[in-house]
Amino acid sequence: MFNALATVEHSHELIGMFGGIIIRIQQHFYCFLSDPSALTEIGNAKDERPNIQSLKSIGSQDPKIYSRARAPLDPQRKNLADALVLCTVMCIFFHELAHITRCHLPFYREQMGKTSYLELPMARLTAEESQLRLLLELDADHIGAANHLIFWRGMYEHFSRRYPIPLSAELCWAISLAMCFFIMHSFDAGTPLLHYPSHPPPMMRYLHLMNRSLFQEHGMYIGSQETAMKGFKAVSDWWAKNKLPKPIEYEELSKEMFDELQALLRKFESDCWPSLKGAPRPPSSRL
Ligand SMILES: [Zn+2]
Repeated sequence: MFNALATVEHSHELIGMFGGIIIRIQQHFYCFLSDPSALTEIGNAKDERPNIQSLKSIGSQDPKIYSRARAPLDPQRKNLADALVLCTVMCIFFHELAHITRCHLPFYREQMGKTSYLELPMARLTAEESQLRLLLELDADHIGAANHLIFWRGMYEHFSRRYPIPLSAELCWAISLAMCFFIMHSFDAGTPLLHYPSHPPPMMRYLHLMNRSLFQEHGMYIGSQETAMKGFKAVSDWWAKNKLPKPIEYEELSKEMFDELQALLRKFESDCWPSLKGAPRPPSSRL
């Protein structure tokens, strides 16, 4: 299951990730870099062989027929896949950490009487709870991604000393984010049709982060729109080519979605931000 949890128990801050998250992310990146047409500039791409069985199990979305992916054959592509798995898993970790460091838990307890924050709740949400969570999610996405980028730049340097990574830290980060939100989009994570959603639609969240990564003031500047687009295109082309569930084109990240997002962010500024004033500000940008 693609789910995670943040909670504070007796002053211990706890973050939980369901095991399925890590396994699914590894499966996607191993399949991605085993495809000879994905990131052709990396290693000996033309000798890769597609991971047919594992791709079929991604396509079916039935956990009972999960098929573990074989690693890419080329060592450089295998190393890059492992680095991208780590980068993506830590992206989710930093999102959960932001729920704690931004004081969402006491705020949520005060407003809703709940002591832990399960990303995909087991019980239905009320309209009021759903509205509050959409706002807290956007905040956790932004602060989590900004801190994650700082963490990742440090890890990237460490990795690069042992195994040269042929892509920039920022492009790895952009690919990881795109893959993460494509996976969540394919599962409809957090946006069930029958009751109030726990999250904004995954592709709206992705648009939010990519948009913020283009401006220095948001603490997660990656330097150019080209990097963000290259990350998106690498994943969306591979996704569409393999007919994986719910492909999305850049054009579908539409103006309506952007306007809806801006309205949610304005609501966050007026409803939540005054109560979260004591929370740490976003980290400063560095590139
Ligand atoms: Zn969250």
